[in-house]
Amino acid sequence: MKKSPLPCLNTAEDLQQWRKSNSDSGAPFLVPTMGALHEGHLALVRRARKLAGKRPVVVSIFVNPKQFAAGEDLERYPQLIDSDLKLLKDLGDDAPDAVFAPSAEAIYPDGFTTTISPGALGDILCGHSRPKHFDGVCTVVAILFRMTACTDAIFGEKDYQQAQIIKAMSRDLQLDVEIHTAPTVRESDGLAMSSRNQFLSDEQRQQAAGLYATLQEVQRRVQGGKTNAAALRAWAEEELQSDSIKVDYVSIVDAHSLEQVKRAKPGDVCAVSAFLGTTRLIDNLRL
Ligand code: AMP
Repeated sequence: MKKSPLPCLNTAEDLQQWRKSNSDSGAPFLVPTMGALHEGHLALVRRARKLAGKRPVVVSIFVNPKQFAAGEDLERYPQLIDSDLKLLKDLGDDAPDAVFAPSAEAIYPDGFTTTISPGALGDILCGHSRPKHFDGVCTVVAILFRMTACTDAIFGEKDYQQAQIIKAMSRDLQLDVEIHTAPTVRESDGLAMSSRNQFLSDEQRQQAAGLYATLQEVQRRVQGGKTNAAALRAWAEEELQSDSIKVDYVSIVDAHSLEQVKRAKPGDVCAVSAFLGTTRLIDNLRL
């Protein structure tokens, strides 16, 4: 075990002070999260630790109001800072060097007016049903990059579209932050871990495993030569649709451009979003 205690920084000043006293160890490696941490987040931290070498790893915990629309689940989004800090500290040698957990005012002070928009990439897939969601994501991530002065950051493939959008933003705005990704961590029945899974009733939790099972079947079909994307999508939608699962979208897209394909091929991404009751879950699989 190393390092005690784990500093939890709340303001830009705290962060600056911390950066000054750690300036010898190099530029930070950032792991942005909204907290309510689970194994998926912890896997990102472990990977960051490995990639960062002796450089400091910073985990940010911030439930970003700008990426929630009115009527979405901002109010009920779990905020569990004490248990998050314990989970991170318990990583021992893989623990981060600091946590940055700012208030909304520290990120968006009075008079804040700027928005960063990813353009067309942010209008498709999740952006279609959550307009402006990725504007909120890009805006906060750019601020976090700037505040931490990180040169590397890591994002989960669970939010595949988000990772692609952040890569494009970092490239287009010449932010000089290398974007790394890490595979989706799943429960034993295949459900992608998510801070929102705790909203599911027992019955919904069981049904939610169907998302990954359906993605796997699409993968099997493509690998078996069934490549008609419209037919695959229609099959998957029908498979998922039930009284309590409302499909938001099933899409098969090119892994880089995120454009819908007509003929699916190995390497494309099948992405799905569905509501179980009022809880919206997403998942995806490289075919
Ligand atoms: P969130 O706290 O949901 O905003 O997620 C913070 C980061 O963790 C994002 O880069 C997500 O893609 C990533 N993440 C969330 N769930 C998982 C998972 N099950 N496996 C891997 N990464 C994940």
